[in-house]
Amino acid sequence: MSERTAIEVQPETVAAAHGVASDTAFGAVAPPLYLSTTYEFADFDTPRAYDYGRVGNPTRDLLADAISTLEGGAGAVMTPSGMAAVDLLVGRLAAGSLVLAPHDCYGGTMRLLKARAALGQLSLRLVDQSDIGAVKASLLDRPALMLVETPSNPLMRVVDIATLAGLARAAGARVAVDNTFLSPALQKPLSLGADYVLHSTTKFLNGHSDVIAGAVIAADAEEARGLKHWANVTGATAAPFDSWLTLRGLRTLFARMAAQERNAMAIAERLCAHPAVSRVHYPGLADHPDHALAARQQRGFGAMMSFELVGGVPAVRRFVKGVRCFTFAESLGGVESLVAHPATMTHVDMGAEARGRAGIGDGLLRLSVGLEHADDLLAGLEAGLSGC
Ligand SMILES: *Cc1c(COP(=O)(O)O)cnc(C)c1O
Repeated sequence: MSERTAIEVQPETVAAAHGVASDTAFGAVAPPLYLSTTYEFADFDTPRAYDYGRVGNPTRDLLADAISTLEGGAGAVMTPSGMAAVDLLVGRLAAGSLVLAPHDCYGGTMRLLKARAALGQLSLRLVDQSDIGAVKASLLDRPALMLVETPSNPLMRVVDIATLAGLARAAGARVAVDNTFLSPALQKPLSLGADYVLHSTTKFLNGHSDVIAGAVIAADAEEARGLKHWANVTGATAAPFDSWLTLRGLRTLFARMAAQERNAMAIAERLCAHPAVSRVHYPGLADHPDHALAARQQRGFGAMMSFELVGGVPAVRRFVKGVRCFTFAESLGGVESLVAHPATMTHVDMGAEARGRAGIGDGLLRLSVGLEHADDLLAGLEAGLSGC
């Protein structure tokens, strides 16, 4: 298998088969799970490829290789959560470095950046990255790192990665793109000029809502080594069992994304036509403000969307009571469909004022569309909407 994997193959093949039939002990087809924390030295002064599980683990490394290959990176580090992935990047910055982040970034990322800023470890500037003038102005202050999230959560706004990366590079800043919402099946930020990709692998990469984990992928080999070193220094390396489960989930990434996107499109179109719905935010719709950019920058529109109910909070309550097939829960990216209410769940920490500024209304619901039959999903939504 080692000679076979050396041949360059399509990404679908990497996801389905990276590391398959590579076991030298028994010829296992599915890569084994190595739980051992420590490894026997071959001789005095002669360690083998692995010595201690925090530093390196064969199961985790196989997953890191697969994800790095899918993103077109030089190497990846698997972290115990998506937040640990963000912190791995941020924690390596020199004290007082300026970090630029989207004004509507993931709530946990916002909380982390604000907490580190409050401790004086970095300074933070929040910018609406669809406003290129504002981005250019903030780059005059020489940030060390610019974080980008596209599409955004929960309004599915899309920003131009290549333009932002070009501007940041010219200003001497590194660019990290959180690719959690689309996965490398649908978007490859490194090919658009980003230096790093971040993932909450908890979401689409694992895809089964049973692992919390994350990843950082670097475009540059030296950076990848630096991140790996830092993950060992801080102990932020993912558990072997989580890595094994995530590799198992990754096998079906492309098939899942394609089928979930088909469902999402059908749902977005149906929601648009519903009298109880005032707006649908899905980049796959021709009238989405960023549709053309999404079509150019992405290989698909993904399985995330949000929509606004005409009836506000009272309608949200009735919808949540009546909806079927969608489970009312946070998180996203699994094979099962979920519905969340950002104002009281994922984005509650943001505060009403900041939510208002970002356009996240109290009548907004977010969907993560799964693999169920489209007819059941549509009927389940109708059951919720008919009471609104
Ligand atoms: C969930 C999520 C994170 C955080 O990941 P965890 O695995 O929950 O720590 C970061 N970014 C985005 C876009 C997410 O959806």
